Amino acid sequence: MTTHTTSPRARASYAELSLYAPDRRPCDVDLSDNTNLWGVPPAAERAMREAASDAMARYPELYAHSLKNALAQYAGVDTSCIVTGCGSDDVLDSAIRAFGEPGDRIALPDPTFPMIPVFARMNALTPVPVRLTSAYDADADALLATDPDIVYLCSPNNPTGTSLARAAIDAIVARANGLIILDEAYAEFAGWSAVELAMRSHRVLLTRTLSKAFGLAGLRIGYGIGAPELVAAVEKSRGPYKVSAIAARAAMAALGDDLPWVRERVDAVVTLRARFTDALRALGLEPLQSRANFVLAPVADAAKVAAALRNRGIAVRPFEHLNAPACTPLAATRGSAIRITIGPWPLLERALGALHEVLP
Ligand SMILES: *Cc1c(COP(=O)(O)O)cnc(C)c1O
Repeated sequence: MTTHTTSPRARASYAELSLYAPDRRPCDVDLSDNTNLWGVPPAAERAMREAASDAMARYPELYAHSLKNALAQYAGVDTSCIVTGCGSDDVLDSAIRAFGEPGDRIALPDPTFPMIPVFARMNALTPVPVRLTSAYDADADALLATDPDIVYLCSPNNPTGTSLARAAIDAIVARANGLIILDEAYAEFAGWSAVELAMRSHRVLLTRTLSKAFGLAGLRIGYGIGAPELVAAVEKSRGPYKVSAIAARAAMAALGDDLPWVRERVDAVVTLRARFTDALRALGLEPLQSRANFVLAPVADAAKVAAALRNRGIAVRPFEHLNAPACTPLAATRGSAIRITIGPWPLLERALGALHEVLP
């Protein structure tokens, strides 16, 4: 008997997609993923343990209204300007889907957060990478010249750690058509945010997360800030029930009683980041000027250095073939670099000791 069925076929754009696969093997000192290495905010942990059983048996709020109230207060905006998600990854993915039709172009600086081209392909958009300037800034003219339907920016930028100049962001917002996403996953460590820009311009969506400064990466809570009509479209694309009831309760505790705990650790990161950068220079490296909770240091053979550090119990994130801006230390290593998360000094000291042994 002949059949006339065809095999299921994934979207054509998925041919370009592979699963996210950083080296996540356990390691004694893990400086590879930019989470908060001082542990869990205490009120959040308490809220989680005390979460009543109805938080498990019943559905959570449809669109996390109570959590949105707490986030609005923290960000200093109205609740109608907040959308939540299962990590800011979910907010980014939903925003790209909400404002991009299949075939549309999303322009992004290069290098930047590697998940953006993935979310673009997942939604059948075409990512158009545009190299950073020699000052590690967004190249406004070159980004606009790609005639994008969506522009993605990240400040402080991952993996460079550098901040974009406000002038570059303003130039893009003034001249780009369509949605501008500004990823502020590391805004707490930079000491500035473009929240007032997002409130003024009805085309800017900020995305933020509780995974980094707030130490809650396992709970998967992210949020967007933008004009109510932007946020409403992202919420339609996101769908209901994306934030679990228990995660929402812990997050609300973190945004309340834990704020002093979070701010103390952010201050510690800023101090230790300067100290660690100096120590890397003393080892002969030329780290980039970071405004985030990690430092990117160009090295000749990042994969080899990372493997040798791992053998000494230290995990860092290696990058190879980053699209290095011309005439920078990163260009001198042909885009090879290691990214190291800032944590308590004893951990950084171990990393420095191991680097001293490992570097040529
Ligand atoms: C870590 C990170 C995110 C994602 O964080 P979530 O855990 O999904 O909230 C988003 N953008 C950048 C630049 C990041 O580094």
